[in-house]
Amino acid sequence: MCGIVGYAGRQPAAEILLDGLKRLEYRGYDSAGAALLNGKQRLQVIKAAGRLETLRSLVNQMQPEGSLGIGHTRWATHGRPSNENAHPHVDCTGRIAVVHNGIIENYALLRQQLEREGHRFRSETDTEVIPHLIEAFYRGDLVAAVRRAVAQLQGSFALAVISVDEPDRMVAVRQDSPLVIGLGHEANYLASDIPAILPYTRRVVILEDGEMAVVKADSVSIMDREGRKV
Ligand code: GLU
Repeated sequence: MCGIVGYAGRQPAAEILLDGLKRLEYRGYDSAGAALLNGKQRLQVIKAAGRLETLRSLVNQMQPEGSLGIGHTRWATHGRPSNENAHPHVDCTGRIAVVHNGIIENYALLRQQLEREGHRFRSETDTEVIPHLIEAFYRGDLVAAVRRAVAQLQGSFALAVISVDEPDRMVAVRQDSPLVIGLGHEANYLASDIPAILPYTRRVVILEDGEMAVVKADSVSIMDREGRKV
């Protein structure tokens, strides 16, 4: 179990995500990655096995644009450390990206079902069932699709999800894995722990088990399992 960061704001997200991941480094990891959304309806995923420095040099080469994004350090539980198994994972269309900490215990069955329905998998991870489930449930409402996907999952998870189709938000959920939300000025943050975002804000909300959050640059809303506002 390793770390998640997320940023929705007005600044270039890449540097802030790398900085957050650096602060999560002490938790240990074998791979790292990030996904960014920019206004041009594009999702850019950059990930690599190995040191954060490897990710940093890829980011320097590719110069991803966008002021909303999610980042991940992985401690492999299902599938060896490799570029393909590093997070974020995406759906078949490459429009939905997910980072996950934890273990999806029923992933093998879910993967079988999804493959039968025609979904194509690119990794050996338990995590990859999540973007495909969200894709299967998506009918124009990301929060609703994430809620339906999460209802299928057994195990522990902290998740952050972004989609090209709703480029102003990150959707986050937790169940037995930690996740906090940082409230900033014209920017809001997600992280596995408080130190990752301390340089940016000291106003922090700790997400409770089963809660879901929609994090945008200028607002945060939190819902319980049934979708009632908290
Ligand atoms: N179970 C997932 C994987 O192996 C996530 C591991 C983690 O929490 O870093 O990819």
